[in-house]
Amino acid sequence: MKIFKRIKHLFLYEIVCGFALTFYYMFKRKVTLNYPYEKGPLSPRFRGEHALRRYPNGEERCIACKLCEAICPAQAITIEAEPREDGSRRTTRYDIDMTKCIYCGLCEEACPVDAIVEGPNFEYATETHEELLYNKERLLANGDRWEAEIAANLAADARYR
Ligand code: SF4
Ligand code: SF4
Repeated sequence: MKIFKRIKHLFLYEIVCGFALTFYYMFKRKVTLNYPYEKGPLSPRFRGEHALRRYPNGEERCIACKLCEAICPAQAITIEAEPREDGSRRTTRYDIDMTKCIYCGLCEEACPVDAIVEGPNFEYATETHEELLYNKERLLANGDRWEAEIAANLAADARYR
């Protein structure tokens, strides 16, 4: 056994094996991405940053039923609502504390009009806690920004819902 060991040492067996492994992986398909310049595919069911959607005519979808607020297990959603002059019911306040949210998706599931959704955006890290306290304006702005992607994802997933 000692002789075999010495022969292995003499011919640098471990180093040769290491180089062989390196060369093997040099010619395999790369599994790493050059983020943020390259990004991997996302499922249509990906649960990212929240957004409030509008109808194509610009009217907000949310009817202030508060189902999302009631179902949220983290109690991250706060809604206040009042009837408008035309009798329709709309929110006057819609806040989400994104630092409480556990991204369960129950708010989206509960919403009868597909108003609150979790969009495809996952790049919204902030430096302060306050920046993650979203209000209605911020959520509507998210909806306006991501509407095309959100609508495509909902359409792709529609037959499974
Ligand atoms: S994803 Fe879940 S935890 Fe987050 S706001 Fe919606 S219901 Fe609440
Ligand atoms: S977002 Fe949907 S579930 Fe929540 S209050 Fe508005 S309509 Fe109701």
